Amino acid sequence: MGHLALVCLVVLASLLSAETKSLTVIEDVDKTLYEIEARTADDFDEEEDIRTNSIPQNPRPTYHKIKPKIHAAASRLQPSPGPKSSSEIHQQNNCNLSSDLVKEIASYQNITNLILKTVLNGTFKGRTYNDLGFFVDKFGSRLTGTANLEDAIDFMLSKMEQDELDNVHGEEVEVPRWVRGEEVAELILPRRKRLAILGLGYTIGTPSDGITAEVLVVRSFDELKQKADKAKGKIIVFNEVFTTYGESVQYRGRGAVEAAKVGGLASLVRSVTPFSINSPHTGMQDYEQNVTQIPNACITIEDAEFLQRCQDRGWKIVIQLKMNDYMLPVSKSRNVVGEIIGRESPSEVVVVSGHIDSWDVGSGAMDDGGGAFISEEALALLKFLKLRPRRTLRSILWTGEELGLIGVQKYIEQHRGIWSHG
Ligand SMILES: [Zn+2]
Repeated sequence: MGHLALVCLVVLASLLSAETKSLTVIEDVDKTLYEIEARTADDFDEEEDIRTNSIPQNPRPTYHKIKPKIHAAASRLQPSPGPKSSSEIHQQNNCNLSSDLVKEIASYQNITNLILKTVLNGTFKGRTYNDLGFFVDKFGSRLTGTANLEDAIDFMLSKMEQDELDNVHGEEVEVPRWVRGEEVAELILPRRKRLAILGLGYTIGTPSDGITAEVLVVRSFDELKQKADKAKGKIIVFNEVFTTYGESVQYRGRGAVEAAKVGGLASLVRSVTPFSINSPHTGMQDYEQNVTQIPNACITIEDAEFLQRCQDRGWKIVIQLKMNDYMLPVSKSRNVVGEIIGRESPSEVVVVSGHIDSWDVGSGAMDDGGGAFISEEALALLKFLKLRPRRTLRSILWTGEELGLIGVQKYIEQHRGIWSHG
């Protein structure tokens, strides 16, 4: 089934439920954050510890504030009466919904058939993919704080208008502007070799003549602590073996901080990915208050393993690192919002979202152009079919996601009161 059709069906099904007050879809391919959960509006009253399951530690503090503890909310959302007998449970495919609700959802079979037909063989066949292709070719990467991202936002606002969504508007968000300068790393010893690197989000640059220093390679933070006496004045290479994104990403997030704590001059982190074609993989990193900020970049799996072997062979390793990444003053961006206003309960809102910004070194097609376009086109499809749900359906394309969920945080801040009365 097409992803768009699936999202439409899930959204529609949720809109039918008498018990379900709102539904949140958070999609981010990069972080495998795909959540579809129901929750009651008053859950937003609580000061919830908002945290993602996939990043257990603290590589990205801003990130932790965002992901609602949805599971707890969902577990409190027990529709009644629930299934009574094992045969009834079986009949309901183990779906914890009342039989009335199951019947009601089943009554929409014709509508779901129409949606599927339109997406798989009708007017919307290939449309989301083609529109995304046009968008990506036209705008390319959309780094937060750039004029290009703002142009892409304007484009999506007019697309929402063209698709006749309701209440189309941008909501202003102040965003940081980190600039990737020239980034060069060269192995000097044991032999000359250019290393492929990418600075990590918010990294500072090196002094203009660079940092030339011996290297200490470690596989973990524990190993770094054990070898702390050898770390001072060195470039620290983290050669963590990829396990899961959530676990391994800690090295990218905290590498510079942990290296600086033991006197390291810079941090080079093995890219957080299970696969490499000598390709460094950028992402966010954080500094900590009262810890010296040092340059932080990722290197490839191949080079990390090579440096590990050099060290294991007892060879002296020296790297020269030159980076001139820097920050510019904050600027204005926007979350992009469009709706289909609900016909019966317009103040109850189902959010379907993706982020519109991207990193600078790719085209942001998968991360998260796909999510953003599915979010918008799901509503465009329902509008096209003149299907108006009971509750309001809101498509939000977040800005500033890659640099710490900036747009999402602002949205929560601005709308918390509205939600708690929803
Ligand atoms: Zn992303």
